[in-house]
Order: sequence, then C-alpha cells, then structure tokens
Amino acid sequence: MSNKMDFSKFKKSTMSVWGGEGDLNVSGAVTTPIVNSVAFAYNDVEKWHQVSLGKEEGFIYSRNTNPTVAALEEKIRLLEGAEAATSFATGMAAISNTLYTFLTAGKRVVSQKDNYGGTSKIFLDFLPLNGVQVTLCDTTDFDAFEAEIAKGCDMVYLETPTNPTLKVVDIKRLAAAAKKVGAIVVADNTFATPINQNPLALGADLVLHSATKFLCGHSDAMGGVLAGKKELVQKVYNYREINGASLQADPAYMIARGMKTLELRIERQNASALKIAQYLKTHPKVQDVFYPGLPTHPGHEIAKAQMSGFGGIMSFALVGGYDHVAKLLTSLQLVHLAASLGSVSTLAGPPRTTSHVELTEAQRKQLGIPESLIRYSVGIENVDDLIQDLENALAQI
Ligand SMILES: *Cc1c(COP(=O)(O)O)cnc(C)c1O
Repeated sequence: MSNKMDFSKFKKSTMSVWGGEGDLNVSGAVTTPIVNSVAFAYNDVEKWHQVSLGKEEGFIYSRNTNPTVAALEEKIRLLEGAEAATSFATGMAAISNTLYTFLTAGKRVVSQKDNYGGTSKIFLDFLPLNGVQVTLCDTTDFDAFEAEIAKGCDMVYLETPTNPTLKVVDIKRLAAAAKKVGAIVVADNTFATPINQNPLALGADLVLHSATKFLCGHSDAMGGVLAGKKELVQKVYNYREINGASLQADPAYMIARGMKTLELRIERQNASALKIAQYLKTHPKVQDVFYPGLPTHPGHEIAKAQMSGFGGIMSFALVGGYDHVAKLLTSLQLVHLAASLGSVSTLAGPPRTTSHVELTEAQRKQLGIPESLIRYSVGIENVDDLIQDLENALAQI
C-alpha cells in the first residue's frame, strides 16, 4: 500500500495503522523505516530545484521534513480530519511555534487561565515582552470569554479538558464567537486525543498535541504535532523549518509506532479511568474528584456533547493537607511518581512538581490549582489491580 491511497474513508483505528505507511517501498517493508538521513540526493538537478521550491513532492533536508516524520504527520492529519499536518521536536515547540507565527507585536490573543504550565508561562511572561496583548479568561465563564473575544482579537487559544483540574471548555461556542471577529482558533487536544475529540469538527482552525503523551503512549519519545487548515499549517511549518525545532526520525518512528495502538489504549484508559473516578468519589478520605466522565462534574454535559470518551486522566484532592499527598503517593505501588501522562503505565504526581512546576506558587494560586492536588494518569494495567493499589495506599493515611 502507498499513502497515495485515500485512508480518510476508513475508521480511526484503520487510519492509525495504515496512514502514511509504506510509501517508501523499501524491499517491501511493511512498516515505514527510520530514515536517518540528513539530506536527500537527486540525480536530476531540475527536479531537485522543483522539490526545493515545493512544486514537486519529495524530501530535501530533514529540518524541513523526512520520510519517517512524514508518515507520522499523515497519521495525525487523518485522525484529526485535517487538510494538512506538521510536526515538532516537542509539544511545547508545537505550541510556541504556533503562537509566535501568528502573534506578532500589536496582536491580541484571548485564552483561558487553565492552560498547560509551559503554555501559561508563554502567555504570562514571554508574549507580553513581544508587545502581544494577552487576555486570560476564567476557563469556564463562557459569557466573559465571549465578551473578551467580541472586543476583537487575532487568536483564541483553547485547551480542553484542562490540566490538571479537568475543566471542560465549550469549543463550538467559543469558536463561533471567534469566527465573528475573524480570529483563528487553536486547540490543544493532548488530554482528549483524536480518538475522544476532534476540535476541527467543532470549529477550530488548528489542533495541536504534545505527541509525547498519549500519541506516543509509552513515555519513550518526545514530539509535537499540528493539524488543520492548509494555509495556516503552512505558515507555522515555514516558521518552524527556520527556527529549527524539528522532529527527528527516531522519535517520529517511536510515536508512529505508538499511534498504531492508539485507539486500543484510549478505549481501555477511558473505561478504567471512569471506574477509578467512581471508586474515588465514594472514598471517605478523598475530598474531591475531577473527572469529566462523572455526572457531578460541572463540565459533564459539554464533555458529553463534544467528546466520544472522557479520557484517561483525572485529579483528586485528599481530605487533609500536603502531608497526606506525599504519604499516599509513596504508598502506591502500580504508579510511577513522575511528570508526564498518557503512558501505558499509570503515572501520578502533584501539579506543583509536574505540569505547573514552571509557575510560582502565587501563579498557581491565581490559576486555582490547589497545592495538595494529585493528578492520576491511568495506564493500561488491569483496572481492579489499580483500584486495589489505591485502596491499600488510602488505608495508609
Ligand atoms: C505535556 C503537555 C504539553 C507540552 O508537551 P511537551 O511534549 O512536554 O513539550 C502541552 N500541553 C499539554 C496539555 C501537555 O500535557
């Protein structure tokens, strides 16, 4: 098979496996190999020129793209139902390159208070230095959000569900408000994955991911991806190829390999997370559980409308203080106490040492993140084993 074949007519699990594969036709290889070549040679100088001008298909230099990287880009393009896709060295490179491409001096961006820590850092510390006006709204106050958008802006930047309190943002409603003022809408879809949510179908112009998380799925490679309208993706690609945060062939291979099992993993993680959230909700030592799949979650109705599954991540607060957090975490056996999320193994940690470590305590407080919160990213282990592990650890406190 070649990726010239139209895989967009198939279902997501088929796209994940077949999309972008086999185009190289290396002795009939059944998976796209790792092409660790910096440059690509031509016998025909005129063809070389045409490819380098982008007028013919081909590869020139691996800072632009590379055959292994292109296979991964094609998978995400298909899964997000996009016209085009490109990739980056990390998720933060996808985010920063996208923001800096469109937000030059004098532009205005409207976003939410709850964003990934690194993204918040760009909004709070870096973009204002470049003369960009940044307005961060209360994440779930959509009336206030709409009012800020209506004042006029160049970009609306969304992330849902949010990290770490799993707030749900109404993409359709805010994208419609953005359209009225001609702003482009960018959505970070890392937590949901393209299996559970497709922001482009809800009105976003661009969707991005930290591919380091669920797309890779095994905590062994870093990357970022961006998909959406061709003209917009092209602009970010042109910015990135010069600024240089390109994805290399080795991690691209690992991520593309992980993506072949994406739907299997996500279905398992959706089901396990719901069961664990329901269990924690009834535990007397747990004060609060944040998971959009629980009917008591304030964003549940919107999540039901815009997501086909509620994802593998939750957070919960314990009765008692931070001492209890440390005790619980070190009593768990089937958990890596580590930053990151979306892996085959369960990962947990407090946001103050993981996703929001870049921020000061005051900045976290301003964003409404309790210092005593635990984020729990459910792996693909047996769910009864995970619940027993939580039960044992909770008994220790
Ligand atoms: C991890 C993460 C990022 C950053 O991705 P890296 O690959 O670590 O650079 C961005 N957004 C969200 C929601 C994340 O979880």
